Amino acid sequence: MKILLTNDDGIYAEGLCALYRALSPEHEVVIVAPEAERSAVGHAITLSDPLRVRVIRQGREFWGYAVKGTPTDCVKLAFYELVGPVDLVVSGINRGANVGINVLYSGTVSAATEAAILGMPALAVSLAAYTQEDYCFAAYFTSTLVENLPLSTPFCLNVNIPHLPAHLIKGVKITRQGTRKLQERFEKRLDPHGNVYYWQCGERFLEDDPDTDVVALEAGYISITPLTHDLTDYKLLPFLKNFQFFSS
Ligand code: MN
Repeated sequence: MKILLTNDDGIYAEGLCALYRALSPEHEVVIVAPEAERSAVGHAITLSDPLRVRVIRQGREFWGYAVKGTPTDCVKLAFYELVGPVDLVVSGINRGANVGINVLYSGTVSAATEAAILGMPALAVSLAAYTQEDYCFAAYFTSTLVENLPLSTPFCLNVNIPHLPAHLIKGVKITRQGTRKLQERFEKRLDPHGNVYYWQCGERFLEDDPDTDVVALEAGYISITPLTHDLTDYKLLPFLKNFQFFSS
């Protein structure tokens, strides 16, 4: 099948290369990815700057399209101009997990939800590691998942893989997105000129529901969460419909 491969870590990222190697023997894989890292840009799109596209080659071989834009820009541009509709969009493998509230900040996940908006099935794949990342198992797992997906049903799946040796991974859990807020802080520092600046750090999840992506991943399971881009609060909907906003 025809697969669009993208990410938010940039076209030269190791995780993207690992996925390309795992998927390209069996599928036609086209890469359209940001020319530099655009992690944590969420669902941003570029409106006030031109979207420059560079063809990247490895030696003489075509490697992919590098876009001076966000992951969402890449999926839109691929769909409308560079590639056209595909059978599947895969975003990743991201360096670092995308679970809980971080799903909202993630460029990796937003590329997948954008694909779903455009009517294409999509996977966002992330590895829970920031140092000494080994993408081999995550790439292998993704390729087996791709072989077994029911492509007749539209879907957007957020896949998070623990950074553990394969034999220590406990299995796959279908989860819901964790929604509890993060414990986070800002480190206050001084630059060499004596000016104050801040650096966000020390993120910790305060999640304990075993059905969530956060807890499953921490317990050593591969977490798969079906996502939708509909942000409607359905619980509040009937109440608001019956609410008298204007008294006549
Ligand atoms: Mn990233």
